[in-house]
Amino acid sequence: MNTITVPGWGSVELENLVLDLNGTLTESGDFIPGVVDYLERLKAKGFKVYVLSGDTRGVLQQTFELSPDIEAVVTETAEDKKRFVESIGAETTVCVGNGNIDVEMFKVARLSICTVQAEGAATKAVLHANIVVTHISHALEILLDPDKLIATLRY
Ligand SMILES: [Mg+2]
Repeated sequence: MNTITVPGWGSVELENLVLDLNGTLTESGDFIPGVVDYLERLKAKGFKVYVLSGDTRGVLQQTFELSPDIEAVVTETAEDKKRFVESIGAETTVCVGNGNIDVEMFKVARLSICTVQAEGAATKAVLHANIVVTHISHALEILLDPDKLIATLRY
């Protein structure tokens, strides 16, 4: 459990990292360079890592078969994503995503980070995130370095 106290904002105990796949971890179906290494570092820090995708390309399970510690879950709708986050414990979950389909899980998760990369981000996803970043590596760096989270969210 990674506990971080942010002055004026609150305390977060983060145990689960839930990531959208397309547009967040990948660009045009390929992993954004460096992403897999970051996920390994976050797992070493104690995060349970989940990747949620509509699996439009039908390759989700195959993509993660060499990473048994990352749970890949097929989710069809925004409601599916929200229900999954609630099932693992929304209060201890940080979500990272970029689309309208991520908005409902952003609303229930303790912490939500929106990535605006090559595929863009839905305006609603930006509005419902606690933090907006321009690259997935920045989102994952924030989770690796609590001082960055504190500096951004404190009042
Ligand atoms: Mg996406």
